[in-house]
Amino acid sequence: MKTMTNQNNTEPIIDEEFEKCKKRCETLNIPSEHSDKNTDYDCKECGNNQYIFYPKKVDGIYKEIVVPCKCQSIRKTLKRLAKSGLKNIIQKYTFENYIISKKWQTDIKNKAVDFTNQQKKWFYIGGQSGCGKTHLCTSICGKFLSDGKSVVYMLWLNDVKELKSTVNDYSAHKKLIEKYKETEVLYIDDFFKTGKEKDGVVSLPTSADIQIAYDIAKGYSNFCFTKILVQKDISQCLFVNYRYINENLITIISSERSIDDIFKVDEAIAGRILECTDYGKYSINIKPDKNKNYRRKNITEY
Ligand SMILES: [Zn+2]
Repeated sequence: MKTMTNQNNTEPIIDEEFEKCKKRCETLNIPSEHSDKNTDYDCKECGNNQYIFYPKKVDGIYKEIVVPCKCQSIRKTLKRLAKSGLKNIIQKYTFENYIISKKWQTDIKNKAVDFTNQQKKWFYIGGQSGCGKTHLCTSICGKFLSDGKSVVYMLWLNDVKELKSTVNDYSAHKKLIEKYKETEVLYIDDFFKTGKEKDGVVSLPTSADIQIAYDIAKGYSNFCFTKILVQKDISQCLFVNYRYINENLITIISSERSIDDIFKVDEAIAGRILECTDYGKYSINIKPDKNKNYRRKNITEY
Protein backbone atom coordinates (compact mmCIF):
# COMPACT_ATOMS: atom_id res chain seq x y z
CA MET A 1 0.00 0.00 0.00
CA LYS A 2 1.43 3.36 -0.98
CA THR A 3 1.64 5.79 1.92
CA MET A 4 2.75 9.36 2.42
CA THR A 5 3.94 11.09 5.54
CA ASN A 6 2.16 14.22 6.65
CA GLN A 7 4.81 16.75 7.64
CA ASN A 8 2.89 17.88 10.74
CA ASN A 9 1.88 14.38 11.70
CA THR A 10 3.97 11.23 11.85
CA GLU A 11 0.86 9.12 11.00
CA PRO A 12 1.10 7.90 7.42
CA ILE A 13 -1.80 8.87 5.19
CA ILE A 14 -3.12 6.77 2.33
CA ASP A 15 -2.80 8.09 -1.22
CA GLU A 16 -6.37 7.40 -2.31
CA GLU A 17 -5.86 8.18 -5.98
CA PHE A 18 -2.98 5.77 -6.13
CA GLU A 19 -5.02 3.04 -4.41
CA LYS A 20 -7.92 3.53 -6.85
CA CYS A 21 -5.59 3.30 -9.83
CA LYS A 22 -3.88 0.24 -8.35
CA LYS A 23 -7.27 -1.48 -8.01
CA ARG A 24 -8.09 -0.70 -11.66
CA CYS A 25 -4.76 -2.19 -12.65
CA GLU A 26 -5.42 -5.31 -10.57
CA THR A 27 -8.71 -5.81 -12.41
CA LEU A 28 -6.96 -5.41 -15.75
CA ASN A 29 -4.25 -7.83 -14.63
CA ILE A 30 -6.65 -10.67 -13.72
CA PRO A 31 -5.13 -13.78 -15.30
CA SER A 32 -6.66 -15.13 -18.50
CA GLU A 33 -8.35 -18.49 -18.30
CA HIS A 34 -6.34 -19.90 -21.16
CA SER A 35 -2.67 -19.96 -21.88
CA ASP A 36 -1.49 -19.09 -25.38
CA LYS A 37 -2.95 -21.81 -27.61
CA ASN A 38 -0.15 -21.44 -30.12
CA THR A 39 2.67 -22.11 -27.71
CA ASP A 40 1.08 -23.60 -24.55
CA TYR A 41 3.35 -21.28 -22.62
CA ASP A 42 2.06 -20.51 -19.14
CA CYS A 43 3.30 -17.17 -17.78
CA LYS A 44 3.01 -16.49 -14.06
CA GLU A 45 4.08 -12.86 -14.45
CA CYS A 46 1.17 -11.65 -16.58
CA GLY A 47 -1.30 -14.52 -16.14
CA ASN A 48 -1.08 -15.03 -19.91
CA ASN A 49 -2.51 -11.59 -20.72
CA GLN A 50 0.86 -10.79 -22.34
CA TYR A 51 0.58 -7.24 -20.95
CA ILE A 52 0.95 -5.88 -17.43
CA PHE A 53 -0.77 -2.74 -16.10
CA TYR A 54 0.69 -0.64 -13.31
CA PRO A 55 -0.21 2.74 -11.75
CA LYS A 56 1.93 5.74 -12.65
CA LYS A 57 1.57 9.43 -11.94
CA VAL A 58 1.46 11.37 -15.18
CA ASP A 59 0.96 15.17 -15.06
CA GLY A 60 -0.20 14.85 -11.44
CA ILE A 61 -2.80 12.15 -12.12
CA TYR A 62 -2.44 8.40 -11.58
CA LYS A 63 -2.96 6.47 -14.79
CA GLU A 64 -2.91 2.80 -15.78
CA ILE A 65 0.25 2.28 -17.77
CA VAL A 66 0.54 -0.87 -19.82
CA VAL A 67 3.79 -2.66 -20.65
CA PRO A 68 4.28 -5.79 -22.74
CA CYS A 69 5.23 -8.81 -20.64
CA LYS A 70 8.64 -10.34 -21.27
CA CYS A 71 6.86 -13.61 -22.13
CA GLN A 72 5.96 -12.07 -25.51
CA SER A 73 9.47 -12.64 -26.80
CA ILE A 74 9.50 -16.16 -25.31
CA ARG A 75 6.22 -16.91 -27.12
CA LYS A 76 7.63 -15.58 -30.38
CA THR A 77 10.70 -17.79 -30.00
CA LEU A 78 8.52 -20.83 -29.26
CA LYS A 79 6.41 -20.12 -32.35
CA ARG A 80 9.50 -19.77 -34.51
CA LEU A 81 10.85 -22.98 -33.03
CA ALA A 82 7.66 -24.90 -33.82
CA LYS A 83 7.76 -23.50 -37.34
CA SER A 84 11.46 -24.27 -37.76
CA GLY A 85 11.00 -28.04 -37.67
CA LEU A 86 13.69 -28.40 -34.98
CA LYS A 87 11.44 -28.46 -31.92
CA ASN A 88 12.34 -31.98 -30.82
CA ILE A 89 16.11 -31.67 -30.94
CA ILE A 90 16.91 -28.05 -30.21
CA GLN A 91 17.31 -28.50 -26.45
CA LYS A 92 19.36 -31.68 -26.80
CA TYR A 93 21.74 -30.41 -29.47
CA THR A 94 23.39 -27.33 -27.96
CA PHE A 95 27.02 -26.19 -28.07
CA GLU A 96 27.22 -26.93 -24.33
CA ASN A 97 26.05 -30.54 -24.85
CA TYR A 98 28.49 -31.29 -27.66
CA ILE A 99 30.81 -33.93 -26.22
CA ILE A 100 34.48 -33.37 -26.92
CA SER A 101 37.15 -36.00 -26.47
CA LYS A 102 39.41 -35.30 -29.44
CA LYS A 103 41.10 -32.19 -30.79
CA TRP A 104 39.24 -32.30 -34.12
CA GLN A 105 35.97 -32.02 -32.18
CA THR A 106 37.22 -28.89 -30.40
CA ASP A 107 38.26 -27.44 -33.76
CA ILE A 108 34.94 -28.00 -35.52
CA LYS A 109 32.95 -26.76 -32.53
CA ASN A 110 35.08 -23.58 -32.39
CA LYS A 111 34.49 -23.06 -36.08
CA ALA A 112 30.72 -23.41 -35.61
CA VAL A 113 30.72 -21.04 -32.63
CA ASP A 114 32.82 -18.53 -34.54
CA PHE A 115 30.44 -18.72 -37.53
CA THR A 116 27.49 -18.07 -35.21
CA ASN A 117 29.15 -15.11 -33.49
CA GLN A 118 30.30 -13.59 -36.77
CA GLN A 119 26.84 -14.15 -38.35
CA LYS A 120 28.50 -15.18 -41.58
CA LYS A 121 26.64 -16.28 -44.68
CA TRP A 122 26.94 -20.05 -45.28
CA PHE A 123 28.29 -22.87 -43.13
CA TYR A 124 29.09 -26.24 -44.68
CA ILE A 125 30.04 -29.42 -42.86
CA GLY A 126 30.49 -32.59 -44.88
CA GLY A 127 31.90 -36.07 -44.56
CA GLN A 128 31.91 -38.94 -42.08
CA SER A 129 28.47 -39.80 -40.73
CA GLY A 130 27.88 -39.88 -36.98
CA CYS A 131 30.54 -37.30 -36.12
CA GLY A 132 28.10 -34.72 -34.80
CA LYS A 133 27.37 -32.66 -37.91
CA THR A 134 23.63 -32.39 -37.18
CA HIS A 135 24.40 -31.59 -33.55
CA LEU A 136 26.62 -28.62 -34.41
CA CYS A 137 24.32 -27.29 -37.13
CA THR A 138 21.33 -27.52 -34.76
CA SER A 139 23.34 -25.66 -32.10
CA ILE A 140 23.95 -22.85 -34.60
CA CYS A 141 20.22 -22.75 -35.39
CA GLY A 142 19.33 -22.69 -31.68
CA LYS A 143 21.52 -19.65 -31.18
CA PHE A 144 20.00 -17.84 -34.17
CA LEU A 145 16.48 -18.69 -32.97
CA SER A 146 17.18 -17.20 -29.56
CA ASP A 147 18.55 -14.10 -31.33
CA GLY A 148 15.08 -13.74 -32.88
CA LYS A 149 15.80 -14.99 -36.39
CA SER A 150 13.40 -17.17 -38.36
CA VAL A 151 14.86 -20.62 -38.96
CA VAL A 152 13.67 -23.36 -41.31
CA TYR A 153 14.90 -26.94 -41.22
CA MET A 154 15.03 -28.86 -44.47
CA LEU A 155 15.72 -32.59 -44.50
CA TRP A 156 16.98 -32.86 -48.05
CA LEU A 157 15.74 -36.29 -49.13
CA ASN A 158 12.23 -35.92 -47.68
CA ASP A 159 11.66 -32.28 -48.56
CA VAL A 160 12.98 -32.59 -52.09
CA LYS A 161 10.52 -35.43 -52.66
CA GLU A 162 7.76 -33.08 -51.58
CA LEU A 163 9.09 -30.32 -53.85
CA LYS A 164 9.26 -32.68 -56.79
CA SER A 165 5.71 -33.86 -56.13
CA THR A 166 4.37 -30.31 -56.58
CA VAL A 167 6.27 -29.53 -59.77
CA ASN A 168 3.10 -29.44 -61.83
CA ASP A 169 1.16 -27.33 -59.36
CA TYR A 170 2.60 -23.85 -59.69
CA SER A 171 1.07 -22.20 -56.60
CA ALA A 172 1.72 -25.17 -54.27
CA HIS A 173 5.31 -25.40 -55.45
CA LYS A 174 5.92 -21.68 -55.18
CA LYS A 175 4.56 -21.63 -51.62
CA LEU A 176 6.79 -24.53 -50.62
CA ILE A 177 9.93 -23.18 -52.18
CA GLU A 178 9.34 -19.71 -50.73
CA LYS A 179 9.52 -21.23 -47.26
CA TYR A 180 13.11 -22.25 -47.99
CA LYS A 181 13.93 -19.20 -50.05
CA GLU A 182 12.94 -16.42 -47.69
CA THR A 183 13.70 -17.63 -44.17
CA GLU A 184 16.50 -15.72 -42.44
CA VAL A 185 18.24 -18.99 -41.60
CA LEU A 186 17.89 -22.18 -43.66
CA TYR A 187 19.38 -25.41 -42.38
CA ILE A 188 19.69 -28.12 -45.05
CA ASP A 189 20.40 -31.47 -43.42
CA ASP A 190 21.82 -34.42 -45.39
CA PHE A 191 22.30 -32.31 -48.52
CA PHE A 192 22.33 -34.39 -51.73
CA LYS A 193 21.49 -37.60 -49.91
CA THR A 194 19.92 -39.75 -52.57
CA GLY A 195 18.79 -42.74 -50.55
CA LYS A 196 19.31 -44.80 -53.66
CA GLU A 197 21.72 -47.69 -53.72
CA LYS A 198 22.71 -49.92 -56.56
CA ASP A 199 24.77 -52.97 -55.60
CA GLY A 200 25.73 -51.26 -52.35
CA VAL A 201 26.93 -48.11 -54.13
CA VAL A 202 25.13 -44.88 -53.32
CA SER A 203 24.03 -43.25 -56.55
CA LEU A 204 24.75 -39.66 -57.50
CA PRO A 205 22.02 -37.03 -57.24
CA THR A 206 19.86 -36.86 -60.34
CA SER A 207 19.62 -33.79 -62.53
CA ALA A 208 16.31 -33.00 -60.79
CA ASP A 209 18.08 -33.04 -57.38
CA ILE A 210 20.75 -30.72 -58.71
CA GLN A 211 18.16 -28.42 -60.22
CA ILE A 212 16.33 -28.05 -56.92
CA ALA A 213 19.61 -27.21 -55.23
CA TYR A 214 20.11 -24.47 -57.80
CA ASP A 215 16.59 -23.30 -57.30
CA ILE A 216 16.86 -22.86 -53.56
CA ALA A 217 20.25 -21.15 -53.71
CA LYS A 218 19.28 -18.94 -56.59
CA GLY A 219 15.69 -17.98 -55.90
CA TYR A 220 13.61 -16.43 -58.63
CA SER A 221 15.22 -14.42 -61.33
CA ASN A 222 13.21 -13.04 -64.20
CA PHE A 223 15.09 -15.21 -66.61
CA CYS A 224 14.37 -18.38 -64.67
CA PHE A 225 10.81 -17.36 -64.01
CA THR A 226 10.13 -17.15 -67.75
CA LYS A 227 11.96 -20.38 -68.29
CA ILE A 228 9.77 -22.08 -65.67
CA LEU A 229 6.59 -20.99 -67.37
CA VAL A 230 7.88 -22.12 -70.73
CA GLN A 231 9.27 -25.40 -69.60
CA LYS A 232 6.59 -26.16 -67.02
CA ASP A 233 9.45 -27.18 -64.83
CA ILE A 234 8.74 -25.08 -61.80
CA SER A 235 11.36 -26.70 -59.64
CA GLN A 236 14.06 -25.29 -61.87
CA CYS A 237 14.37 -21.91 -60.37
CA LEU A 238 14.72 -21.52 -56.68
CA PHE A 239 18.12 -22.13 -55.19
CA VAL A 240 20.85 -20.11 -56.83
CA ASN A 241 20.21 -16.35 -56.80
CA TYR A 242 18.15 -15.52 -53.78
CA ARG A 243 20.12 -17.10 -50.94
CA TYR A 244 23.34 -16.60 -52.86
CA ILE A 245 22.87 -12.91 -53.62
CA ASN A 246 21.00 -11.81 -50.52
CA GLU A 247 23.68 -10.88 -47.98
CA ASN A 248 21.37 -11.20 -44.98
CA LEU A 249 20.31 -14.79 -45.50
CA ILE A 250 22.20 -17.47 -43.61
CA THR A 251 22.40 -21.03 -44.96
CA ILE A 252 23.74 -23.98 -42.98
CA ILE A 253 24.39 -27.23 -44.82
CA SER A 254 25.36 -30.66 -43.54
CA SER A 255 26.07 -33.57 -45.85
CA GLU A 256 27.78 -36.92 -45.96
CA ARG A 257 29.38 -35.62 -49.15
CA SER A 258 32.52 -33.56 -48.88
CA ILE A 259 32.91 -30.39 -50.93
CA ASP A 260 35.09 -32.43 -53.31
CA ASP A 261 32.19 -34.86 -53.74
CA ILE A 262 29.88 -31.92 -54.50
CA PHE A 263 32.37 -30.71 -57.13
CA LYS A 264 32.04 -34.10 -58.82
CA VAL A 265 28.24 -33.72 -58.85
CA ASP A 266 28.03 -30.07 -59.89
CA GLU A 267 30.90 -27.63 -60.06
CA ALA A 268 28.73 -24.53 -60.00
CA ILE A 269 26.96 -25.50 -56.78
CA ALA A 270 30.22 -26.52 -55.08
CA GLY A 271 31.80 -23.26 -56.22
CA ARG A 272 28.98 -21.20 -54.76
CA ILE A 273 29.17 -23.09 -51.47
CA LEU A 274 32.89 -22.37 -51.27
CA GLU A 275 32.41 -18.72 -52.11
CA CYS A 276 29.58 -18.24 -49.59
CA THR A 277 31.44 -20.03 -46.80
CA ASP A 278 33.97 -17.19 -46.93
CA TYR A 279 36.05 -19.04 -49.51
CA GLY A 280 36.19 -22.21 -47.46
CA LYS A 281 36.74 -20.60 -44.05
CA TYR A 282 33.41 -21.98 -42.82
CA SER A 283 33.54 -25.17 -44.85
CA ILE A 284 34.50 -28.28 -42.90
CA ASN A 285 35.36 -31.68 -44.30
CA ILE A 286 35.47 -34.65 -41.93
CA LYS A 287 37.48 -37.38 -43.66
CA PRO A 288 36.01 -40.89 -43.64
CA ASP A 289 37.00 -42.57 -40.38
CA LYS A 290 34.65 -45.04 -38.72
CA ASN A 291 36.18 -44.18 -35.31
CA LYS A 292 34.68 -40.71 -35.62
CA ASN A 293 31.17 -42.18 -35.71
CA TYR A 294 29.68 -41.69 -32.22
CA ARG A 295 27.09 -44.38 -32.94
CA ARG A 296 29.94 -46.93 -32.81
CA LYS A 297 31.34 -45.73 -29.50
CA ASN A 298 30.21 -48.75 -27.47
CA ILE A 299 31.40 -51.42 -29.87
CA THR A 300 34.12 -53.76 -28.61
CA GLU A 301 36.59 -54.52 -31.38
CA TYR A 302 39.25 -57.26 -31.42
ZN1 LIG B 1 3.77 -12.97 -19.45
